[in-house]
Amino acid sequence: MELPHYDLHCHSTASDGALSPIELLGLAKNNNIDVLALTDHDTVAGVKALQAENSSEIKIISGTELTCLWNGRVIHIVGLGVDLESDCLNLYLSNLANLRIERSKKMSQQLVSMGLPDVFDQAKQLAGEGSIGRPHFARALREQGAVANEQQAFKKYLGIGKKGDVKMAWPELSETVSVIKAAGGIAILAHPTKYKMTFTKLRLVIADFVKCGGEALEVSYPGITPDHHYHLLRIAKENDLLLSAGSDFHAPSQGWTDLGKYPPIRVEGRHVLERLLN
Ligand code: AMP
Ligand code: MN
Ligand code: MN
Ligand code: MN
Repeated sequence: MELPHYDLHCHSTASDGALSPIELLGLAKNNNIDVLALTDHDTVAGVKALQAENSSEIKIISGTELTCLWNGRVIHIVGLGVDLESDCLNLYLSNLANLRIERSKKMSQQLVSMGLPDVFDQAKQLAGEGSIGRPHFARALREQGAVANEQQAFKKYLGIGKKGDVKMAWPELSETVSVIKAAGGIAILAHPTKYKMTFTKLRLVIADFVKCGGEALEVSYPGITPDHHYHLLRIAKENDLLLSAGSDFHAPSQGWTDLGKYPPIRVEGRHVLERLLN
């Protein structure tokens, strides 16, 4: 199958992206994208609005990027082609929205305990109607002058293992894959090399992911090295997983990435689009 120009992983103001879903669609048009999946963190509000308002030629695929736990570590599972009206998915997402609010309160307490300003209200305002997350806190800290930039906020306070990275009882991987499947979607392990895990550990994650019904692997995204790309292609083949790719685009100000941009997939393999477009 000749694949169209696609991007199967990106964010809007419905979570931690800078562009509204409609602005994102405009950028997709500019960048000659044919197929776009909007995958906001733990919500489908953005893609729901987009599908309702889409008057362009671009094919919109429903999606979400779900936060979950594997052996106590946070990983991200992208669900594509989910039924936006699915009751079990919507119930699941409302639980995640509550968890995110609860986490935000704890996060602001942690930051205050480190002598930083209380940015809860500001972060909440920055998130607006969208899923509140660490990037909203990073921006609020920057606006308060507590850090020079968002990167520094993650490095010092919010990144993996830092005090502001509050541990939460996110759903387990198996539950996440199940809800995606129950909503008629395909579960994809997002950006496998971004979890600070060795490939040995990653293979364990992937084995469990496959066992509980996961069907695809992101094998290309900005910043991935060719070596890691080939490694992921090999793992996908061994586990009979479909291939996926996306920019994980968040904002035009992140100059190193753009909507629709990621290294090309270097080896033939069954692609997740073959399922989604049929
Ligand atoms: P959350 O979903 O609230 O846990 O926030 C995760 C999001 O924070 C990711 O999707 C990225 O957009 C952003 N993020 C994670 N780590 C970093 C980092 N080191 N620097 C900048 N942004 C980050
Ligand atoms: Mn994000
Ligand atoms: Mn992610
Ligand atoms: Mn993402």
